[in-house]
Amino acid sequence: MDYDVLVVGAGVTGCATAMELTKYTLRAGVLEAGEDVCTGTSKANSAIVHAGFDALPGSLKARFNVEGSRLMPALARRLDIPYRRNGALVLAFSPEERAGLEELLRRGRANGVEGLELLDRQALRQREPRVSPEAWGALYAPSSAIVCPFELTAAMAENAAANGARFHFGARVTAVRREGELWALETQAGCFRAPVVINAAGLGGGTLHNLVSREKVSLVPRKGEYCLLDRKVGGLVSHTIFQLPTRMGKGVLVTPTVHGNLLMGPTALDVEDPLATDTTAAGLDRVIQQARRSVPELPVNRVITSFAGLRAHPEGEESDFILGEAPGAPGFLDAIGMESPGLSAAPAVGAFLAESAAYLVRASVNRSYDGSRPAVCRPAELSPEERAELIRRRPEYGRIVCRCEQVSEGEILDAIRRCPGARSLDGVKRRTRAGMGRCQGGFCMPRVLELLSRELGLPPEEITKGGGGSRLLWGPTRKRGGEGE
Ligand SMILES: Cc1cc2nc3c(=O)[nH]c(=O)nc-3n(C[C@H](O)[C@H](O)[C@H](O)COP(=O)(O)OP(=O)(O)OC[C@H]3O[C@@H](n4cnc5c(N)ncnc54)[C@H](O)[C@@H]3O)c2cc1C
Repeated sequence: MDYDVLVVGAGVTGCATAMELTKYTLRAGVLEAGEDVCTGTSKANSAIVHAGFDALPGSLKARFNVEGSRLMPALARRLDIPYRRNGALVLAFSPEERAGLEELLRRGRANGVEGLELLDRQALRQREPRVSPEAWGALYAPSSAIVCPFELTAAMAENAAANGARFHFGARVTAVRREGELWALETQAGCFRAPVVINAAGLGGGTLHNLVSREKVSLVPRKGEYCLLDRKVGGLVSHTIFQLPTRMGKGVLVTPTVHGNLLMGPTALDVEDPLATDTTAAGLDRVIQQARRSVPELPVNRVITSFAGLRAHPEGEESDFILGEAPGAPGFLDAIGMESPGLSAAPAVGAFLAESAAYLVRASVNRSYDGSRPAVCRPAELSPEERAELIRRRPEYGRIVCRCEQVSEGEILDAIRRCPGARSLDGVKRRTRAGMGRCQGGFCMPRVLELLSRELGLPPEEITKGGGGSRLLWGPTRKRGGEGE
């Protein structure tokens, strides 16, 4: 299949790029190895839209973080996704750490971050009463925000698809070759060709880069483990609370989420396996110890789940995003090494890459681009009268499937029917939160599986948790109306 531009990877970077590409008159395709969007690093991170005070001035991280953070509020409004500007605090635990805060302040101002302020102990505790009394002061960044990374990625993909981009799932790129002016990408779903390729393949991006470029890169999976706490304690703090960053990253934070939970983590440990998203007792213990240093009252008996994500860290100290044409590979554009603040930067990175690609294929502005996305119906946000009216018209919005998060059948059907829609239990969970609550899907999973099976026209045994071999059912234990087996 031929395109003008092919994006490899449907994480937040690839989906932002696909959305931006549809603002031009070109044929855009997205090749994704997984069964859905947001199955890589974009699904497991801190979900912070960083203000941009941490990145080295003059770096790509600094530029695209600050630009992305400025674009995010309007993007969230037009795509109808949750976003909250809750502000961040970086704590210092001794007068000696003041130099660290001053360095962040200096970097932040050089990067163009607005509203930064140093707080003394009293001003800090007025802003966030539950921080440790040991905290001696803080850097306050009012423009730091929180977002839902799943909804952001899925919404950008939907907008891209509605404006003409085509998504191909189960399409892992296994070989790349030059055919005249074109790149030919071999996948399990066939061969795709385009003069311009955008490599947004996350941890897989280094391998693709090395297939075509004379200058090799090495991406190290850097694991970060988290604990997620119940919504009952989501209001314990209102800001995102950091400690001073270290050589390995931004350190362990405590933050509310846009859905009202409390999140603590991540750790930072280099590993070899790019699929090692398991959590460990030692890692989670470290998260708890470090998080309690910032907020001593953290009720760890309210942890409802733990998870881990993998940063695609380019080898070396103070490494940067790798963005732009790969050396020796004309038309092959990289967007790799997208560790933090890659989520915050995605809208700006997508716009930059799309503009570069449009220039290369001589595309012009697409005047019929539609920036909106069909609104998501969220009954829980309606007044009782509005909800009653909705249920009268659409009874499926009155049938609650996930009791913990109060998700209705109507919302699950909507998530499956959207384009690209949910194809697995995780796909439904990320779009609707069914299975994200206290029981972690114990009650709603069979019903969600049934709905997926019915809507996709697949036998229940073929429905997976998250694509690949993650089937949940293996066959009947008893034949209906017949003898037991
Ligand atoms: C612990 C942790 C905390 C973080 N916290 C934050 C934060 O708070 N704020 C922030 O701004 N950033 C944060 N980040 C960084 C952010 O999550 C990433 O920058 C971002 O998600 C990267 O997105 P991506 O689309 O580039 O990669 P991914 O989301 O990994 O997407 C890459 C996609 O490519 C696909 N793929 C791979 N190989 C192939 C192939 N050969 N063919 C086809 N498809 C392929 C994968 O299946 C995947 O879906 C954090 C990261 C981690 C790990």
